[in-house]
Amino acid sequence: MSTLLEVSDLQVEFNTAEGVVKAVKGVDFSVERGRTLGIVGESGSGKSVTSLAVMGLHRGAKVTGSVKFDGTELLGAPDETVRKLRGRRMAMVFQDALTSLHPYFTIGDQIAEAYREHHGGTRKAALARAVEVLGDVGIPEPARRAGEHPHQFSGGMRQRAMIALALSCEPDLIIADEPTTALDVTVQAQVLELLMKLQQDRGLGIVMITHDLGVIARVADEVLVMYGGAAAEQASADALFTTPRHPYTQGLLDSLPRVDAVEGESLRSIPGSPPSLLAPPAGCAFHPRCPVYAAKPSELCTGERPLLRLVAEGHRNACALDPDGATS
Ligand code: SF4
Ligand code: MG
Repeated sequence: MSTLLEVSDLQVEFNTAEGVVKAVKGVDFSVERGRTLGIVGESGSGKSVTSLAVMGLHRGAKVTGSVKFDGTELLGAPDETVRKLRGRRMAMVFQDALTSLHPYFTIGDQIAEAYREHHGGTRKAALARAVEVLGDVGIPEPARRAGEHPHQFSGGMRQRAMIALALSCEPDLIIADEPTTALDVTVQAQVLELLMKLQQDRGLGIVMITHDLGVIARVADEVLVMYGGAAAEQASADALFTTPRHPYTQGLLDSLPRVDAVEGESLRSIPGSPPSLLAPPAGCAFHPRCPVYAAKPSELCTGERPLLRLVAEGHRNACALDPDGATS
């Protein structure tokens, strides 16, 4: 396996009228070919900002650290370098295809234009390519449907068209930000299956950004749990689901619908709301909501912000009270 994307100590800051927002406070992750990294967290956890920064789409923000795509450093690289990679070798799929697709142009034209921007060629050849990828993502009668406009597609079909748009240039990496959140459960499962199949066929690296651990459970090999702009926990999906170590991850897992749930049993969600990024709580940003802290307050939770520490092989936890935490 080779590393497609390597992100180190990524930090993203914005200036706002109210002050500096530290949206991402130093995260590290990598994505191998043919593998899926899941980034999970509530809104405001920094997961979407992270993906935009990786794609060079973080307008007006100060971004530091390192983002290497297939060995090339993207932070500080000329716009042209990043622009060439974006779309052609790394592509994004967003939650809301209706706002990401242009309402006036046909689906086929939009895919063909994106393809020509990177590969050139005739309009006719690009349209043929558009029909081909629409077929690849399971859109029936792709030649006819290529001539339709986004509003003529159902939500699930539009999301497939977005994936076709991303795939048209044969990228190595797809960053998908809540790609199935707007879809009903059955269609969501179909779209995730499609992404997994495309990954198998093409060796795609995928970054799946979601607030939904259920989505992570379906697709991810590795998981980064974000809270308040920082990494809370990082592990293989197996380890994260069998032995979650951070109280926030444990809370997220408790709020997952369970197959063995007793009828009428209500879902538990984590009480409280995500921290302000302008004025985050001191120490561990999770402490105002943390049941472990509530049961037994500790200065370790409110002093320095706890950083990720190695707690088992390949498993890192940013809880100061994890007894296995070795400084690493
Ligand atoms: Fe909870 Fe303290 Fe661990 Fe933070 S450091 S997750 S407040 S126990
Ligand atoms: Mg988001």
